[in-house]
Amino acid sequence: SRRILIAGNWKMNTRAASAAALAKCIVDAVGNSSSVEVALCPPAVYLHVVAEATAGTPVEVGAQNLYPSDDGAFTGELNAAMLTDVGCRFVILGHSERRQLMGETDADVSKKLHAALAGNLVPIVCVGETLDQREANETESVIETQVRGSLEGLDEVRAAGIVIAYEPVWAIGTGKTASKEQAEAVHAFIRELLSQMFSPSVAEQIRIQYGGSVKPNNAEELLAQPNIDGALVGGASLKVEDFAAIIAAG
Ligand code: 13P
Repeated sequence: SRRILIAGNWKMNTRAASAAALAKCIVDAVGNSSSVEVALCPPAVYLHVVAEATAGTPVEVGAQNLYPSDDGAFTGELNAAMLTDVGCRFVILGHSERRQLMGETDADVSKKLHAALAGNLVPIVCVGETLDQREANETESVIETQVRGSLEGLDEVRAAGIVIAYEPVWAIGTGKTASKEQAEAVHAFIRELLSQMFSPSVAEQIRIQYGGSVKPNNAEELLAQPNIDGALVGGASLKVEDFAAIIAAG
């Protein structure tokens, strides 16, 4: 019984005032207790603002990236200790936008994963194929390479606590959601792969979120799939009513 995790990836949006206001509205929508776990992932400069707005509530906070090193001469970067210091529980790693725009590789993601775990952050590791790859029937091989590469060196004990986000690149920000059947097929494939890499019982514990144009009108059917354990929401997480509806669908 994996607890549903609904996370809002705000990407490079909001300002301090709107971040605080959005976080407060989500806190109000969630109330004192929630059967689903809810996390907000604002831009790093507003983590503090969002952590303050959510303090003492069930709503948790996540970062969108980290740099895998202890303190030192790494101009412009932020490490796991800084993220936990400002109240983060989660960190998104290897988002397709970072893979595409910043050239992040599976090897980079693996280093970040180990830094996150060493720093007591729960990593949300993103994988997903492009449209060209799907049309060339390469979805499973691409996903397998990304999962194996991104989780390189991970042991069974720590594996159970991570989160994976399956985000087909062609569904991100396009309004084109994977159908529930398409998404469930890849989630089941990932779970079987995790079972081989670790063990069946560890694979049963790892939460696999779906991401890519999750909206109030498709959240319920996606979240009802046996291997879909949550959603990583972009655009709709910036709208209180939409995000609240997605949480309610969990
Ligand atoms: P959208 O929900 O805007 O498609 O973004 C998905 C995503 O990339 C979440 O990380």
